[in-house]
Amino acid sequence: MNVLVTGGAGYIGSICVEQLLEAGHQVFVFDNLSEGHRGAVDPRAVFVQGCLSDPARIQEAIRESRAEAIVHFAAFALVGESMTDPGKYFLNNVGNGTKLLMAAVAGGVRKFVFSSTCATYGFPDRMPMTEDLPQKPINPYGESKLMFERVLEWFEKLHGLEFVAFRYFNAAGATAKYGEHHKIETHLIPNVLKVALEQKPQVDIFGTDYPTPDGTCIRDYIHIVDLAEAHILALAPGKRGFFNLGNGDGYSVRQVVQMCEKVTGRKLPVVEKPRRPGDPPRLVAAADKARRELGWKPRLPGLEEIVASAWEWHRRHPLGYTE
Ligand code: UDP
Repeated sequence: MNVLVTGGAGYIGSICVEQLLEAGHQVFVFDNLSEGHRGAVDPRAVFVQGCLSDPARIQEAIRESRAEAIVHFAAFALVGESMTDPGKYFLNNVGNGTKLLMAAVAGGVRKFVFSSTCATYGFPDRMPMTEDLPQKPINPYGESKLMFERVLEWFEKLHGLEFVAFRYFNAAGATAKYGEHHKIETHLIPNVLKVALEQKPQVDIFGTDYPTPDGTCIRDYIHIVDLAEAHILALAPGKRGFFNLGNGDGYSVRQVVQMCEKVTGRKLPVVEKPRRPGDPPRLVAAADKARRELGWKPRLPGLEEIVASAWEWHRRHPLGYTE
């Protein structure tokens, strides 16, 4: 298929582009490089530098790529920033996303795949988390993603635009070529690996008094290649709806740090810090629906292989894409 990938220069987008190409699709990347990196775009893809705020540029990209499907990653994704600048999140994640949807309908695009998040659930009532849990986001980032999920439902109902929305748990890991490089890094695994590379003096553990066995937060880490694979399966006609993507295994912050020590062979100094606002104690996916309806099967579910792939990439690219 001809697939237009917005945010294809970002972490998840770039690896999805690589995997789409490996699967034989024609890929066009639309990215304004505000967060992404030109070097993260696979050279086999056509790159268009453009912004989702510009409808003419989007229409042109859809026309030129003859896009049959759009995979939409481009969005702001820093929870903390969304609490201080909510307008930025609603304007881009909902407003500009809607411009993209309007252009998709006008351009005859048949399928829309959206990267949503488990942050749409807020503090979950049940564990593991199924798709039918109440969605009560606790920050504007999660709210903006939930709002766009609703917009998608209306566009499907009224314009017949078939969509799949994936609620990601904790995407991690790398491929041989592409990995995680955020201008502001807030995520646990890359931050711990920076300590192993001696780019940071210590691992900060945010909160050790949570109601979990070792007092630190539990998350469901999923390999980026498995995540990308789900997007490829979602392109098949007739696949639609909301899907959690996670492995169903929970690891605490301390367990992740221990795994990073094992994989890197380095002792990593740890400092216990207060809780980070807005962190639910435990987020673990039930992703049975994706397995059942999409035929998705994670190939790299173990935390060790996830961390090892990330370490390999960070070791080879200590400065990320800025070298
Ligand atoms: N975390 C931490 N130290 C860090 C970064 C994250 O202790 O340097 C914790 C964070 O508080 C959360 C977990 O690690 O409990 C996962 O955080 P991350 O930002 O990677 O993902 P999130 O689950 O927030 O999307």
